[in-house]
Amino acid sequence: MQKLEGKVATVTGGASGIGEAAARLFAHHGARVVIADIQDEKGRALAESIPFQRCSYVHCDVSDETQVKAMVDWTVQKYGQLDIMFSNAGVVGNSGQKVIDLDLSEFDRVLRVNARGMAACVKHAARAMVEQRVRGSIICTASIAASRAGPWRTDYVMSKHAVLGLVKSASRQLGEYGIRVNSVSPSAVMTPIMLSAEQETSLKVLKMYGNLTCLKGITLTVKHLADAVLFLASDDSAFVSGHDLVLDGGLLSLPSPNSSL
Ligand code: NAD
Repeated sequence: MQKLEGKVATVTGGASGIGEAAARLFAHHGARVVIADIQDEKGRALAESIPFQRCSYVHCDVSDETQVKAMVDWTVQKYGQLDIMFSNAGVVGNSGQKVIDLDLSEFDRVLRVNARGMAACVKHAARAMVEQRVRGSIICTASIAASRAGPWRTDYVMSKHAVLGLVKSASRQLGEYGIRVNSVSPSAVMTPIMLSAEQETSLKVLKMYGNLTCLKGITLTVKHLADAVLFLASDDSAFVSGHDLVLDGGLLSLPSPNSSL
């Protein structure tokens, strides 16, 4: 069954990792998909690899509101509407970022993409949906760092807490238009962002996070994330709004005295 037949979706950070998996799954379920990213070569190649010309690529740096507006306008012009915004693009800071050592220019870079960029995507997607009277679905990628602090990465933790605030506010304000706003919060998934953050091999990172979850014998993958996002994008979640769907194998429900989370 195609769950997104006739729908139009945009996926920011869609050239890689979680966004790539969601873009592929959306298209598989019948949506026409606009991949928005700053990795032009990867994004174009991905769009071309998706069958039936269901997918396009648009360069869009989400930290620049003008580019976000242009990407949404382009989508509506090309496909006639916008039903789903998966606002997923994100970065991690380059340094440890304990509050006592906070590098504020790095802080600005992280917040500019993860918080400001998310807000711009929600704003312009919502405007297009309201204008066209589309009862759309907006999904943001938060993180387990949106509800738990660690001994470092203050800037990233702050930016992901902001995503939850955005989702709660937007879901409350957009409900009157029938627009739903939710988030997904992964623990650790093996994507370029995670490997660069931990500066480790995927095997070491897997072991580290695997030890922290209560669910054993399974590792979180981008497919699990794409399935969760599909649920929130489709009518399967027609009465769900303002919800943070956590994919953490039970990690947040455990106390973590010795962990970095
Ligand atoms: P990824 O590195 O595979 O994908 C991130 C994508 O975002 C890349 O394609 C990158 O080019 C794009 N991007 C970065 N800055 C951008 C900008 N200014 N404008 C547009 N696109 C930009 O990593 P991922 O794991 O798929 O990350 C997706 C989201 O998931 C991020 O928001 C990240 O914070 C979140 N997340 C990831 C994990 C994890 O373990 N991988 C855990 C929690 C949350």
